[in-house]
Amino acid sequence: MRKKLFSFILLVSAFLAFFTFGHKNTAAASDKLNVVTTLDFYGETAKAVLGDHGTVTSLITSPNVDPHDFEATTKTAKIVSKADLVIYNGAGYDNWVKKLNGKKYLSVADVMKVKEGQNEHLWYDPTTMEKLADRLATEFGKIQPKNKVAFKKNATKYKKTLAKLTQTLDKIKQNSNNQKVAVSEPVFDYSLKKMGYKIANSHFAKATEEGSDPSYSDIKKLQNDIKNKKIAFFVQNTQSDSSVIKNIVSLCKESNIPVVKVTETLPKNKTYVTWLQGEYQAVLDTQK
Ligand SMILES: [Zn+2]
Repeated sequence: MRKKLFSFILLVSAFLAFFTFGHKNTAAASDKLNVVTTLDFYGETAKAVLGDHGTVTSLITSPNVDPHDFEATTKTAKIVSKADLVIYNGAGYDNWVKKLNGKKYLSVADVMKVKEGQNEHLWYDPTTMEKLADRLATEFGKIQPKNKVAFKKNATKYKKTLAKLTQTLDKIKQNSNNQKVAVSEPVFDYSLKKMGYKIANSHFAKATEEGSDPSYSDIKKLQNDIKNKKIAFFVQNTQSDSSVIKNIVSLCKESNIPVVKVTETLPKNKTYVTWLQGEYQAVLDTQK
């Protein structure tokens, strides 16, 4: 009798232990993932991969904010500290987020093996978004293993939406013939490279990016390239407004050199794909 009672107690405690453990487990796994991204277009990728298994907050959503010199507030710090994963560009672009108390960080520059000092405008290469989606499926799966398969499926679906961009890049490449182009800043360079164009004024562009005026000789050389039609088109980042660039744009118009307008950040009412597709179309139009 005593033996029987003992086994009964054992059974009950085992059951209780199992139940408590099992219950705790499901509670943790059913929690939604809390993801934070610095830039809104990375938020789009994160949302697509997460599906309904979490929420995404992007810190910079206004096209009027320059991510190069964004200032984090106490509110920003609080959002970052609560995130399961913080996704940022890296390569020196938005490293301010690293100073906030995030639990776990993922840098897109690390995913792309790009170091500080190299071109940090990584999103202008659509393969960045493909690789990021795959990496996010892996990272989210580590935090929430029960949805591993769903994350992988979502990533595959998302990557298909990028195919349009790759097709347009290929189409442009057929007629770019290694021609030279000039740029106001290195913002669009990864796309230009995929299109098969060569940048004629990298030194000039770097100066504008850093907020200083290009040298006299760099300006003179660019003016001559425009007048002598040595470049196929000029790429203008419309979010910066230096008088040097304004003068270059006027000279392009006088000399019948097309100006392709691009932005550094996602414009309002656009998605990553419609934004880039619009700019790629502008390049296609120069080939007509
Ligand atoms: Zn920039």
